[in-house]
Amino acid sequence: MSAAVITRFAPSPTGFLHIGGARTALFNWLYAKRHGGKMLLRIEDTDRERSTEPAVAAILDGLTWLGLDWEGEPISQFARAERHREVAEQLIAAGRAYYCYASQEELTEMREKARAEGRPPRYDGRWRDRDPSEAPEGVKPVVRLKAPTEGETIVDDQVQGRVSFPNKDLDDLVLLRSDGTPTYMLAVVVDDHDMGITHIVRGDDHLTNAARQTLIYQAVDWDVPVMAHIPLIHGPDGAKLSKRHGALGAEAYRAMGYLPAAMRNYLARLGWSHGDDEIFSTEEMIGWFDLDAIGKSPSRFDFQKLQNLNGHY
Ligand code: GLU
Repeated sequence: MSAAVITRFAPSPTGFLHIGGARTALFNWLYAKRHGGKMLLRIEDTDRERSTEPAVAAILDGLTWLGLDWEGEPISQFARAERHREVAEQLIAAGRAYYCYASQEELTEMREKARAEGRPPRYDGRWRDRDPSEAPEGVKPVVRLKAPTEGETIVDDQVQGRVSFPNKDLDDLVLLRSDGTPTYMLAVVVDDHDMGITHIVRGDDHLTNAARQTLIYQAVDWDVPVMAHIPLIHGPDGAKLSKRHGALGAEAYRAMGYLPAAMRNYLARLGWSHGDDEIFSTEEMIGWFDLDAIGKSPSRFDFQKLQNLNGHY
């Protein structure tokens, strides 16, 4: 018997629950419901400057209004920093991560050199095998993953297919910053693992991150969850979705009189389809939802269609 499905919605609380986030939450929720599993809500509040309490409240309100429930209490990622550090230290002890004392000047130099040679800016691994006793005085190190420099990393994605990343393009990513705070890359992997997440469904702007996160999974020797990276939503003109296309927060739609059931129906169709069906109940969506039926090209947000659909509810 396969393990129970556990998905998660992991918003960064830097603003309202926008259309893209609401769709990601819906897909995670539908997938969990379809398989009798659960969806967790993880607030990715590690960016202390940009994360705000009103944004957390707006996200919870938006999800509640949309009828998307989650299991247990929302989890604060920031509150788990100690655990993230513990895993970074395990990696250092196992020789899979190391302290890097490169100065800002050295990093800038590396970037400029790469640019001059037409290569992507990558850290050159200069502290990989150096003894920390050679560390310059007064410099606080970052912790970097010792990533493979050859070969490729494969992300076997339910939507994008098998995507290959040359390892030389994925450098020794930072796990802990010089002030000891964990990076997003480390925090996500540790949290997804510890929370038993079986399926990661999120926007395809995270696809390269998926490759980097895979390197961390391999270094700690944890199983990589199933991944599904959904194409982003575009406006009707094909440009990246913005406010001028009607990409507002959930509360704005509520204020305009949209009904949650119509929103769920419309959001589901942004990237997922079930034959030619246009109007379907939430029960039908749960019964039909599958990751295979998510399209590979960006969907287009169309206010008019949403309005028409709302008329049916
Ligand atoms: N917090 C990230 C975001 O809001 C999502 C991270 C993830 O789903 O892995 O874009």
